Amino acid sequence: TPDIKPLVVGNWKMNGDRSMLDQLALTARGLDDDLSERVDVALCPPATLTYVTTTLVEDTNLLVGAQNCHAQEKGAHTGDISAEMIADCEAEFCIVGHSERRTEHGESDATIRAKVEACWRAELTAIVCIGETETQYDAGEAEAVLGRQLMESVPDGANENTTVIAYEPVWAIGTGKTPSPDDVANIHAFLRDRLVERFGGPGERMAILYGGSVKPDNAAELMSVVNVDGALVGGASLKAQDFLAICEVY
Ligand code: PEP
Repeated sequence: TPDIKPLVVGNWKMNGDRSMLDQLALTARGLDDDLSERVDVALCPPATLTYVTTTLVEDTNLLVGAQNCHAQEKGAHTGDISAEMIADCEAEFCIVGHSERRTEHGESDATIRAKVEACWRAELTAIVCIGETETQYDAGEAEAVLGRQLMESVPDGANENTTVIAYEPVWAIGTGKTPSPDDVANIHAFLRDRLVERFGGPGERMAILYGGSVKPDNAAELMSVVNVDGALVGGASLKAQDFLAICEVY
């Protein structure tokens, strides 16, 4: 989309210890002013590395996010991390509702919606993930599922500064399979229509990322699809060279 600045986000998932900080520094160093004029780039390491990461990349163009948060600000929630704590680590983004959270932790759309509101409260930009399973895709239910997730996971009042949508077909995550560019175009057009219908102008300006097996060798094709405003990258974000190659399609 012409007037949306592209955004590429790396999701390290439950990977990464301090020995991987050199990959992080390499990514930050590769992100020169020229490239970051064209594309915003964020990395979401595990929460154990959030603060050391923001410290390390402070004077670079690399942005930092977290992978999940709790809906409450604080309290008796052993093992959880609030959006405020993430903001206190000077991160700017938080992924919410990733399919692995939906599946492994039973997160519902209502839970995710509350977490997005928590992100807004803490002034984090929420990256809200939606996606159909392979069964739903095969049954021709993708749009119905995505429409519902979009409606129920994204709170009223979302805009382009507070919210990014990530379309991640569950069957494409970590599998090496991707939808065809035509399929991606159809889904992203559908999502754009729903966003504009619900949010008006802000819905026109909200970034819609594609995620699921984005690699250096397919990124150019996927990122050139209309209404694809960037990527959410799992596996290929772990190596600076691969991640930068994806960013450099812009
Ligand atoms: C993800 O989990 O957000 C993702 C897109 O993973 P991968 O790139 O490894 O498929």
